[in-house]
Amino acid sequence: MSSAALESRLAQVDGSIADAARSAGRDPGEITRIVVTKFHPAALVRELFALGVRDVAENRQQEFQAKHDELTDLGDLRWHFVGQVQSKKARAVRRAAGAVHSVDRDKLVAALDVPDADPLDVLVQINLTDDPNRGGVREGDAPRLAETIARTPSLRLRGVMAVAPLDEDPARAFERLAGIAARVRGVVPDASWISAGMSGDFAEAIAHGATHLRIGTAITGPRPSQV
Ligand SMILES: *Cc1c(COP(=O)(O)O)cnc(C)c1O
Repeated sequence: MSSAALESRLAQVDGSIADAARSAGRDPGEITRIVVTKFHPAALVRELFALGVRDVAENRQQEFQAKHDELTDLGDLRWHFVGQVQSKKARAVRRAAGAVHSVDRDKLVAALDVPDADPLDVLVQINLTDDPNRGGVREGDAPRLAETIARTPSLRLRGVMAVAPLDEDPARAFERLAGIAARVRGVVPDASWISAGMSGDFAEAIAHGATHLRIGTAITGPRPSQV
């Protein structure tokens, strides 16, 4: 894709985000648009940066690490990690990420903990499906995991993250997520982030309080290869 096309897709998506925010009576300025760059080369991240993008997300540890290391000159670029984190890779993810959206078990909290380090922003990932093989904690377990994170000084709980199930109306799924987010705020009052909404459902996510959108293909175009 040419960089003019990239620029116009980005502007189009940002326009739709602003429209959805206004329809929901929200200030578009309180919403962070994260561009998901998985499967795309580091060069695309560099182009996005030149267009003003400062928040990008990756979901595979090795790919994330490689791109991160190639782009350390992009000083204020913030990397969000949104994929499953293996405990043995947790420290490496922690070193490169500005935020980890996919904390879903006590063991990972322990693996991410680096005593005396500056706090890392993390989110509890919620599994909104009935499939236990999906990433994320079950809804009812979120407050307890939030408590574990709250007791870990090297982690700062910012909120919750989820992907809408394929077989449920995203608006209903995000409404449930808003309820879970409120329960998590009962544990950590300033955990105000709701990371929800992708290319196909970000308007519904905005209507239900999403503060961080994770948008890939609507901005980048199709991913080159998903193997
Ligand atoms: C790939 C991915 C996205 C972006 O999906 P698109 O449909 O391309 O916008 C968002 N969140 C997570 C966790 C992802 O893995």
